[in-house]
Amino acid sequence: MNIDKNDNLTAQQWQRVLDFSRTKETPFQVILSEVIEEKYHELEKNLPFANIYYAVKANPAPEVISLLARLGSNFDVASVYELRRLQELGVSAERMSCGNTIKKFEHIKEFYQAGIRLFVTDSELDLRNIAMAAPGSKVLVRLMAEGGLTADWPLSRKFGCNPDLAGDLLVLARKLGLEPYGLSFHVGSQQRDITAWDTALSKVSYLFSWLKENEDLELKCINMGGGFPAVYQERTHSVDVYAQEILRYLQEDYGDELPQIIIEPGRSLVGDSGVLVSEIVLISRKSRTALERWIYQDCGKFGGLMETLGEAIKYPIVCERTGPAERVILAGPSCDSMDTMYEEYMYELPLSLAVGDRLYWLSTGAYTSSYSSVEFNGFPPLETFVI
Ligand SMILES: *Cc1c(COP(=O)(O)O)cnc(C)c1O
Repeated sequence: MNIDKNDNLTAQQWQRVLDFSRTKETPFQVILSEVIEEKYHELEKNLPFANIYYAVKANPAPEVISLLARLGSNFDVASVYELRRLQELGVSAERMSCGNTIKKFEHIKEFYQAGIRLFVTDSELDLRNIAMAAPGSKVLVRLMAEGGLTADWPLSRKFGCNPDLAGDLLVLARKLGLEPYGLSFHVGSQQRDITAWDTALSKVSYLFSWLKENEDLELKCINMGGGFPAVYQERTHSVDVYAQEILRYLQEDYGDELPQIIIEPGRSLVGDSGVLVSEIVLISRKSRTALERWIYQDCGKFGGLMETLGEAIKYPIVCERTGPAERVILAGPSCDSMDTMYEEYMYELPLSLAVGDRLYWLSTGAYTSSYSSVEFNGFPPLETFVI
């Protein structure tokens, strides 16, 4: 795709990215803060009834955190290390939740001492740890969600429990002196099938009624996790369509008396704001007559493009050359054959492409820099510039 033919960024935004990039040595990531701001307002506008807790793991750059803090976001932290970073940036723990269901006892203590009072769990052991280390806190029990087949980056199976156990855990939470606050789920990241929320919400609604009738336990909150899309090669609906549908599902179950709704967007907030800039190191063909070229660039799976694992996320890629294009296999620079980004899903790039040219990977603001390895093969982690 040519640089002038993409609609992820406006012409003006493009110019700013290019101007900024010229003087920098690749590979690196440029984050356009104004895009994050737009996405935040878009979510707020389309889901005005929801409290936003940004999933920090998507992009923990200090400037991104500070920007979202200024916009009024809350934060879902996955570890005490994220907690400490947010504290350093002056974010109050009242605006944080701990959504990771896997945590050490000592770390729960630290979350509690910092002031976090909202925890997610999916097991009895973790729940008992929360009761001891974070007495009186609110707990959400995470339900296992389907949707693994239609999410490009599924989060199923590892997290959540079945409704039968979820009910037991909420009853036990009350017995342990915690506040059984509600239910949570995550339908899978980059979820392309909106009905995945419907399926999850019907389990939630069933448990809301069952617990009320049988245990006199009134839940107050639904945490719908993330899953909203960024703009990649595969088509999705826009966020407003997601919002309309989800609101309809909620109203079918609760009418106008909605419980507190939490969403934890990561990808959809920061994904489209990022451009990863790489440089071509080598171009080759594997035989005299090979039809496709191998393009090796200075950023690979270990340098931030981890979500190309299984070719799950297909980023739009643009370059500054034009002319006839042919299929390419795209690979990274490390001495590891797993460090190949796209071989099945063949991209086409201009034949005029040469060593030293730059490639621009669009919508790479989420799950790139935070995934890059510290020094595999000696390569440094991906650098981030927020402009
Ligand atoms: C990763 C994660 C998110 C963010 O999901 P996206 O699909 O990136 O929006 C939200 N909540 C939890 C608990 C997560 O683990």
